Amino acid sequence: MKMKRVAEAFQALEATSRRHGMSGILGKLFRETPKEQIDKLIYLLHGRLGPPYAAPDFGVDERLILLALTNASGVPHDRVERLYKEKGDLGLTAEELAHGSGERLDFGAVFDALNRIANATGAGAHERKVAVLTDLIKRASGIEARYILRILQGKLRLGVGDATIMDALSEAAVGGRGIRERIERVYSICSDLGLVGRLLLTQEEKALDTIRPQVGKPILAALAERLPSPDAIVRKMGMVAAEPKYDGLRLQLHKDDAQIRFFTRRLEDVTGMFPELAKATEHQITTERAIIDGEAVVYNPETGEFLPFQVTVRRKRKYGIEVMGARYPLRYFAFDLLYFDDEDLTQKPLSLRRQRLEEILRWTAGDPIQITEQVVTDKTEELERFFEENVTRGLEGIVVKRLGGVYQAGQRNFNWVKLKRGYHAELRDTVDVVIVGYLTGKGKRARFGIGSLVGAIYDPEHDRFRTVTKIGSGLTEVEWAEMRRLLDENRSSGVPGRVDSSIVPDVWTEPRYVVEVRADEITRSPRHTCGKVGKEPGYALRFPRVISFRWDKGPEDATTEQEIIEMYEAQQLVAGEAPQRKPGGPKRAA
Ligand code: ATP
Repeated sequence: MKMKRVAEAFQALEATSRRHGMSGILGKLFRETPKEQIDKLIYLLHGRLGPPYAAPDFGVDERLILLALTNASGVPHDRVERLYKEKGDLGLTAEELAHGSGERLDFGAVFDALNRIANATGAGAHERKVAVLTDLIKRASGIEARYILRILQGKLRLGVGDATIMDALSEAAVGGRGIRERIERVYSICSDLGLVGRLLLTQEEKALDTIRPQVGKPILAALAERLPSPDAIVRKMGMVAAEPKYDGLRLQLHKDDAQIRFFTRRLEDVTGMFPELAKATEHQITTERAIIDGEAVVYNPETGEFLPFQVTVRRKRKYGIEVMGARYPLRYFAFDLLYFDDEDLTQKPLSLRRQRLEEILRWTAGDPIQITEQVVTDKTEELERFFEENVTRGLEGIVVKRLGGVYQAGQRNFNWVKLKRGYHAELRDTVDVVIVGYLTGKGKRARFGIGSLVGAIYDPEHDRFRTVTKIGSGLTEVEWAEMRRLLDENRSSGVPGRVDSSIVPDVWTEPRYVVEVRADEITRSPRHTCGKVGKEPGYALRFPRVISFRWDKGPEDATTEQEIIEMYEAQQLVAGEAPQRKPGGPKRAA
């Protein structure tokens, strides 16, 4: 397949904002793609060379790209730089400078060249990267060069999420949404959409059944629903296992003999950041192969007290790991076992998974890896007591799990329910919003050029981000300045592809950063698009303030539109009013 065909499809995707239109464009492209290249195409749609946990960095910067553009075009370097200043975008600069016909540029060859750029390391790496890129630009036509450079810069923003790719795969395989759910199920087990696409389109649909949990490939995290009180939990769930809710970093531990790896919820491989945990795994996990789910928390060794999530995440920085490790030691609370030797446990009940976890984990009080405390009960008072105890210890609350529940990868449902501190307040939980833009603001903060953030929730059904709030408090002056820097790196020239907003901020930004927001309540509001259908008002957060940065969350992990509606309805019930709409998401056309 020609790179030109792919670049044209990318351009069409950029110009489309409707999910349905996108999956049509993609479905057609998938059908035309040689089968052995399907996985590569899926990776490149996300601007990567592999699944998130195994894709190498390109290791190129602006200077390297400008050098390759100069070499390839024969235009003097200062003119190339001037053009870049004028355009403000390397992709558009390259589009203007590239004069290749693109006729002979094959998609597979581009993918291989990008791989060579990423894999050039050690002595002479810089020169080799420049040489490969120069050659690519020479051969590329304008539109091809635009997308190649955006991929290299991590700025390919086609607005295509996993949900749309899964729609398109179903479309390409069976001409409709017939196997969409099945695709999602296997994707949640292997976290590799490229693999799923290749199996589906090179073999028959039943090839998907060969996808099993595999040590070394993260499984999508199971997530927790909300219920208003211990009483509501017991009524809905019956016999449950309740555990403390640690405010740390969700970490999936993979052990394959001496090979130990850790993955975040966003499927990043963060093994290098937790050396002491890798060492502890060797001693404490007695089986050869295992996949364990748990939460990593740092604590203050002097007081024994756990430190908040922000401190745990700070440890993730690549530098000073040793220093941070000594200052903030880590505890890993294992709460689930998903795979054990060669047995897939995800479809087994929690009670059995827990029993196996206890069998394979060797620990005493001071060890880095510990098993999460658990209380099994069907009594409201006992649950209430356990909750209060944990809050008194300074924890966030509890997570309550159905004893007979399977591990539902990537799903938020009533197999797990969280009950957090302050659940009796009007708005019981915080909301995680994606920033889609900012207003420059008036008064004191105008001198930073940023006054408030426009926050959106996620609508997975339509793969859209809809606004729910404008947030102007919760950050220090230093944090506002830092926020502006981050957002400016992420500016979008118009409304970003998947954003649905009736507010027009001064600066639009690509949906990328997630912040946790506390608000007093959720109200109905015509100004926001969250939950807005036709003339009905949408939903808005009242008195919002930022309480933390959720580096561990990607945009699609933000609170969903459906969750906001449920939180609003729960709040109405507390206030003694009947919910105004039937449960279930708002009905919209695709
Ligand atoms: P929150 O912001 O409330 O932590 P979330 O969106 O990160 O929510 P949820 O699935 O809604 O995640 O809530 C469960 C989260 O709580 C898990 O992702 C995990 O990080 C954390 N957690 C802490 N202790 C436990 C536990 N014992 N069992 C399961 N999850 C736990």
